[in-house]
Amino acid sequence: MRATYQTTLAERVDLMGRGVHCGAQARVSLLPAGSDTGIVFVNRGADGTIRQIPVSPTAIRNTDFATVLGDSHGLMCSTVEHLLAAFTGLGVDNAIVEVEGGEVPIFDGSAIAFVEAIEAAGLERQDAVRRYLKVLKPIRVTEGRSTGELLPYDAGFRLEVEIDFAHPLIGRQRYAATLTPEVFHRDLARARTFGFMSDVAKLWSAGYALGASLDNTICLADDRVLNPAGLRYSDEFVRHKALDALGDLALAGLPILGRYHSVCGGHKLNAAVVSALTADCSAWTVVEDTRKRARGHADLGVPVAVPAYRAES
Ligand SMILES: [Zn+2]
Repeated sequence: MRATYQTTLAERVDLMGRGVHCGAQARVSLLPAGSDTGIVFVNRGADGTIRQIPVSPTAIRNTDFATVLGDSHGLMCSTVEHLLAAFTGLGVDNAIVEVEGGEVPIFDGSAIAFVEAIEAAGLERQDAVRRYLKVLKPIRVTEGRSTGELLPYDAGFRLEVEIDFAHPLIGRQRYAATLTPEVFHRDLARARTFGFMSDVAKLWSAGYALGASLDNTICLADDRVLNPAGLRYSDEFVRHKALDALGDLALAGLPILGRYHSVCGGHKLNAAVVSALTADCSAWTVVEDTRKRARGHADLGVPVAVPAYRAES
């Protein structure tokens, strides 16, 4: 793969839907952004104040049931992972995400609504060369039975996700692929989030999943899928976990050149691996071309890395 150019949206797109956790209507607008902006979440307060949160590991505030971004003023936006997966999966480098309502709408529980919106807006090639975060050495995080590893990999970004649920319709599942926009669209974009009937009361009492329904979640009883139309892929569960991992790894702030391997992972593990990677300056460098080293991380002062690595630089 040679050097490629950054992209942004060709035009603004507005999306409205229900937040799966808050249960209320939520709106996001996706806007074009200049080269080296990255993905930036923006919220306009009722008093006219504007908060901006660039996507970065330091913006992660909660990963219990969704990935939640915030800053020193508090939380800003929940359930960002499917939108971030759509940006990364389609190769969108720069965009402003205006959020109203504190949560990205869940739509059907997959990334396809964002993918279709982005594709309808169209992508615009920008003048700046795309930069990648290249993994130089293994980074491994283990939490209980969950393990996540980022490893060097020279042929792009490879995702290897394994799950093991003690449920007869899931069991052990594995998904592995080197991602391209085509592979993402075909394999992952339509995979929906899932939950267990047995967990519903616990989630509701904790204030989560208040907007969950069969329209936006695969719901599993002890021995069957409750959604009348069934599954979209026979292994939709692991594909959704792969989609979540892609979205969570977007919190690195740049597309990753490397291989991500996770076993029994989730948002918390994914976020921990991203944070561990970016905290270890000897574990990564920034390159403009996947074939060679372009700039060492010591040079990172300006443009693209500023939002993502402000804390470290
Ligand atoms: Zn998800």
